[in-house]
Amino acid sequence: MPTLTDIAEEIRLAARALGEFGAGLFNPTVRLGVTGLSGAGKTVFITALVHQLLHGGRLPVFEAQSGGRIARARLEPQPDDAVPRFDYEAHLRALTEERRWPESTTRISELRLVIEYQSARGARNRTLTLDIVDYPGEWLLDLPLLTASYAQWSADTLKLSRVGPRAALAAAWHRHLAALDPSAPEDEQAAREATRLFTDYLKACRNERYAMRLLPPGRFLMPGDLAGSPALTFAPLELPDGEAPAGSLWAMMERRYEAYKNVVVRPFYREHFARLDRQIVLVDALAAFNAGPEAVRDLEGALASILASFRTGSASIVSALFRPRVDRILFAATKADHLHHANHDRLERFLARTTERAIERAKFSGAGIDVVALAAVRATREATVARGRDKLPAIIGTPLAGETVGREGFDGATEVASFPGDLPDDLASLFERDGFTGLTAATDTDFRFLRFRPPLTEPGATGAPTLPHIRLDRALQFLLGDRLA
Ligand code: GDP
Repeated sequence: MPTLTDIAEEIRLAARALGEFGAGLFNPTVRLGVTGLSGAGKTVFITALVHQLLHGGRLPVFEAQSGGRIARARLEPQPDDAVPRFDYEAHLRALTEERRWPESTTRISELRLVIEYQSARGARNRTLTLDIVDYPGEWLLDLPLLTASYAQWSADTLKLSRVGPRAALAAAWHRHLAALDPSAPEDEQAAREATRLFTDYLKACRNERYAMRLLPPGRFLMPGDLAGSPALTFAPLELPDGEAPAGSLWAMMERRYEAYKNVVVRPFYREHFARLDRQIVLVDALAAFNAGPEAVRDLEGALASILASFRTGSASIVSALFRPRVDRILFAATKADHLHHANHDRLERFLARTTERAIERAKFSGAGIDVVALAAVRATREATVARGRDKLPAIIGTPLAGETVGREGFDGATEVASFPGDLPDDLASLFERDGFTGLTAATDTDFRFLRFRPPLTEPGATGAPTLPHIRLDRALQFLLGDRLA
């Protein structure tokens, strides 16, 4: 039975949706969600995208821009007062003036861009308002919690933590768990210790890249402003059948789990997620390749969970009635500048195949889906380097200060040629145990994990620095092309 509060909330959301719909008729707006797990490249992607639009960057495949129909783009104050602004200026300064990568996403932020353009058919001047919403992909993992009870979630989480490489990572937490009696009186210290060990386990899964398909709660990995609050202080327990005894540790954990859903998950879903029109999901596939087949298979699982959350999104009555739901989703493999261009198509085919399997697994339908391999900021250039009689395809860039290969250390000022090696032509081997052991470096020196500094930039036509990229224009064409037609 919906409560009065639920009904009032539905009315508020319906009124907001109707208001936005009305405003959209006069002032067409696209809300573009940018997400991906930590380190996938969200901050760099948004900074580069905004910069290319503001300064008329070279984007041949993005037809509105290359066809000269975009007259001007400008930043405007964002519509949501309670959401931090995406700090475009600081991130751009870091990239272009300091030649360092900007601070990564740790919470939601937003930026509004207004694009003045001419429609493809006539000379009519129009505007499109683009609201970019940056949020941690970890938060998306929480949506399945809404339909799971505490007991169910505990059981599922524990079960998964006992198989494969996760078991070793969970050992310390499991030992602590074995000493806990769920029916014992509630105990803040026990709850905090369980949370700490459980969170360490989740982080280890992420860091070891064993498990891209992370388990909720996502805020345990990316707490935003809520770190340390009671709604983030709970963990699974080994539970018998039945109900939680009043005043027990079990009851305390259950209460906080429900609070997490009410104060964290639902507001994010209603206030932000359900209002998106378009979505790009950034994926660090290269990191998964380098970690091996277990991580590659996990990546497919991660994509399936993400797609499943978009299915949940479209089922909301409010969004179905008043808002077009997300109708285009782009999966983008980032940092393609770490590979020679001969491998970009392979990277894209890999992502297409993984996405197809994820679509099947999530029984997903309803939105147009595409994939692209891109580098929002291209930090390298290509060359062919002679090694004995061989000519090897190489990429040239400036490794970050402190990076090392073998005994060689880099100072952040010296360029090197590296030989990143090839992705296999037979993509199936990427998924097979023992089938693929990471990109094989083309020489005995292993440059696979080398990270490069952002490129040296030069002023373009407008005087602003030009940022080189790979296929950023393809991404823009898919995400916005039809809305600027
Ligand atoms: P976020 O956590 O998703 O916001 O990730 P960031 O955008 O902060 O990117 C994380 C790191 O990935 C950066 O610090 C860079 O080292 C690297 N990175 C991201 N995008 C690119 C890119 O286009 N090219 C290269 N070479 N590195 C990138």
